[in-house]
Amino acid sequence: MAYLNENYLKLQAGYLFPEIARRVREFCEKNPDAAKRLIRCGIGDVTEPLPQAAINAIKLAADELGRRETFRGYGPEQGYEFLRSAIAQKDFRDRKIDIADDEIFVSDGSKCDCGFVLDILGDQNKIAVPDPVYPVYVDTNVMAGHTGAPRKDGSYEGIVYLPATAENNFVPEPPKEHVDLIYLCFPNNPTGAVASREQLARWIDYARQHDALILFDAAYEAYISDPKIPHSIFELDGARECAMEFRSFSKIGGFTGVRCGFTVLPKSVMGKTDSGKKLSLHPLWHRRWSTKSNSVSYPVQRAAEALYSDEGRKQCRTLIDHYMSNAKILYKACEEIGLKVFGGQNAPYVWVSTPTGLTSWQMFDRMLNEINVVITPGAGFGAQGEGYFRVSAFNSRENAEEVARRIKTLG
Ligand SMILES: *Cc1c(COP(=O)(O)O)cnc(C)c1O
Repeated sequence: MAYLNENYLKLQAGYLFPEIARRVREFCEKNPDAAKRLIRCGIGDVTEPLPQAAINAIKLAADELGRRETFRGYGPEQGYEFLRSAIAQKDFRDRKIDIADDEIFVSDGSKCDCGFVLDILGDQNKIAVPDPVYPVYVDTNVMAGHTGAPRKDGSYEGIVYLPATAENNFVPEPPKEHVDLIYLCFPNNPTGAVASREQLARWIDYARQHDALILFDAAYEAYISDPKIPHSIFELDGARECAMEFRSFSKIGGFTGVRCGFTVLPKSVMGKTDSGKKLSLHPLWHRRWSTKSNSVSYPVQRAAEALYSDEGRKQCRTLIDHYMSNAKILYKACEEIGLKVFGGQNAPYVWVSTPTGLTSWQMFDRMLNEINVVITPGAGFGAQGEGYFRVSAFNSRENAEEVARRIKTLG
């Protein structure tokens, strides 16, 4: 019998979303009438159809693949040049950020990239994650054997947790101790918080002092409305020496089902060997893709490219504005009933304090039972998420308005 990876056994059994699904299923079985009224503001998945520019590009690409003269087989493992250069030019160089085409690595999404990146990093790294946190950063490290055992509150031995609280506006400061690898996500899922230029600069100072690597998840950068907030960590001096960025078309262009994202890894980012030799991570990442992947399908890469056309950009903007108007509606509703509300300004998530005395799972049950609305309990994202819940703005306008009406009846 083959040995299994015992690190998987350390994963928390009641992973957040399965546990939500279980409670919702149980509720619906017991209350078939209320089940018909159920509105989900739980998982962060988009609801609105694809931009027309992407649809046209997929159809065109399919036609190309259907003709001998324009047929394509395997593409470059790191992504087609047309997409890598569109990204590097339009997301970076047009914004005066120095990123070369070959520093872009196309993938089928950021979630996958979060796991893949561990292929090129050592097992000895001391890892820091924010708390609350996007669970993927933690669980991929658990699976890779980078943590100890889980504790009762769901945290793991061996990980440094960086508290993101109302006191620090949900932007953790660098720790006093040394770490090698830092996950940051801004605009943040789940809190909706954004980091200022000054706050990010402190992280870059820390990373350079400690020779640490920052893994910066910017999946929601397009949701930033405040012109002072950086969209990319590479807008800051020094980031080219210490950061890798994760981007995704999932929330920008409604690509959660289409699947496309990319990482940005400057050639100047170094890692070290056991013997202390410093080497660029870029060739390792390049090799990782060559060996383990054949990239993303051609029609999908054409669809991603189409999001950068004038039409595509306009259509993405419309999508994002739609979700952000929902966020405003939901934010106001929570505020009106006297709850402390955060986020929702530069991110499609509204982060809300539970009414005094209620845990986040109690609030989840209350909203499910009393107003038939599914939210995400903050405690599922980490110990510091206790006492909060997340409302996702990914919904139709009709649903967002209805949820707002129902929230106001909570009283
Ligand atoms: C949605 C999301 C992503 C994007 O994931 P994909 O795999 O590209 O769909 C990345 N990071 C965070 C924090 C997210 O919420």
